[in-house]
Amino acid sequence: MTDTGAQALAALLDPDHGVFTTGGFATGQGPGLDLVSPIDGELIGTVREASGHQLDSAVASARRTFSEGSWSADGAHRAKVLRRLADLVVDNAEQIAYLDAIEAGKVFTDSVAEDVEDVASNLRFFADLISRDDGRYLQGPEGWGWVRKIPVGVVGAVLPWNYPIAMLGWKVAPALAAGNAMIIKPSEDSTLSALHFAGLAQQAGVPDGILHVLTGTGPNIGEAMGLHAGIDVLTFTGSGPVGRSFLESSAKSNLKKVSLELGGRAVYIVDAEHATDFAAIAADIAGAAFGTSGQNCTASSRVIFVGDDDADFQQFREALVAVTEGLTVGDPLVEGTDIGPVINKKARDRISAWVDEAVGKGASIINTTAEVPSAGTWFPPTVIDGVPEDSELGRGEIFGPLTQLLRTSSRDEAVSAINDEAYGLASTVWCEDLGTTKWWSNRIRVGTLAVNGYSEGTVATPFGGLRQSGFWGRDNGPEALETYQETMTVWIAGN
Ligand code: NAD
Repeated sequence: MTDTGAQALAALLDPDHGVFTTGGFATGQGPGLDLVSPIDGELIGTVREASGHQLDSAVASARRTFSEGSWSADGAHRAKVLRRLADLVVDNAEQIAYLDAIEAGKVFTDSVAEDVEDVASNLRFFADLISRDDGRYLQGPEGWGWVRKIPVGVVGAVLPWNYPIAMLGWKVAPALAAGNAMIIKPSEDSTLSALHFAGLAQQAGVPDGILHVLTGTGPNIGEAMGLHAGIDVLTFTGSGPVGRSFLESSAKSNLKKVSLELGGRAVYIVDAEHATDFAAIAADIAGAAFGTSGQNCTASSRVIFVGDDDADFQQFREALVAVTEGLTVGDPLVEGTDIGPVINKKARDRISAWVDEAVGKGASIINTTAEVPSAGTWFPPTVIDGVPEDSELGRGEIFGPLTQLLRTSSRDEAVSAINDEAYGLASTVWCEDLGTTKWWSNRIRVGTLAVNGYSEGTVATPFGGLRQSGFWGRDNGPEALETYQETMTVWIAGN
């Protein structure tokens, strides 16, 4: 499985391949960026970041190509190109999954089956949607006209490292379908699959100048994109503080529209009165809490058992511990691995420090934690209880393979544990009674509520957060197009 991936890697580490701009790879003119694998701590290679000057040139090229008009005017052509790109992405699944595995520690088989598949589905979904694009006709007493959607212009996308190719797909598919040009900045922790994707986009027929990938750190390229007067919309997935900085940058520059997908502190509620198979529920929770090493904005970092029966709780607790201890932690390139490393040393040290603090204040780790490799950056799947509210773990987004087990006999209290949070991205309820499920869904306020199985929905369902989990805009679903379109009225006097 690694031969084609290794070839893709070798091609991308060519010194001429640091950025992709105006239809070709080029050497970055910024500082060197060392790519370190979280699997073993080894240097994968070095790419050169884009310079500020290269950002200016890319934005100018994007504007020129967009304004020339042939891309934005022909939805049917764009749909054809996006479908071709979807096929190429599927053909390149192994290369993409390999690059995301070595750079971001993503489990290879999960990437192939889920992340890469998701990109192709997104491209096809928005190709279909744009093919059906229509406007609204209006007739007045003294005139007539129509309202239509037009592309915004130049879109900037600043991406995280936890789902490198999937997050890219969530932004690229609707933005290109809508007829925009794009500047993409992948995270400095996961640059390679975005560069590889750019080459595929060119092969698929995305015109030169429409899609640019600029590698670089947040302070270098990300900040400059936020402040750039030539970028009309900035779409961002990442942390809250950086999201807020984009709002400031927008106010200081050209009032670019800013769409933010930020963090979460999702809860997995088990309504014990309406739950029959604790082993199956625990298995689902393991995926929800520990998938991608818990580095997922919808990761179930709290599990709340709602019920009075001590024997039931004991049985559920044992099932959760058993499934956690049964996970295979190891090399994400090896088949059968469930959990890979966490992204880097800074993340691992923060997770450890938060756990140490909570344990110091009375929390207990209730599973036997797995042995993890000594090289690289690893943290074992962990279930913890007794976490005090006045600890980092009691308040913050852990973004690691750890979940808290809590118990209450009050459904209202469980609802409050979700609704009283500053975050409001997602949560899950396991409840096999339809009427009680309706009760839960009428009270819980989050962007996505999954029932009887952890899920973020499909390409057709909007994804985004309430409260401080997001700001304007949605990924996925027809709603995602709105981020990348303006509404324009044409009004013709007379009848
Ligand atoms: P991050 O905010 O540190 O980085 C995200 C991107 O922002 C990277 O490309 C980075 O280079 C860039 N960046 C960093 N500092 C910047 C600055 N000062 N100016 C401009 N750009 C800057 O976040 P991360 O560590 O990559 O991802 C983890 C966070 O992302 C978590 O909080 C997680 O919940 C969130 N996340 C949210 C979603 C969602 O859909 N809601 C999905 C994935 C991750």
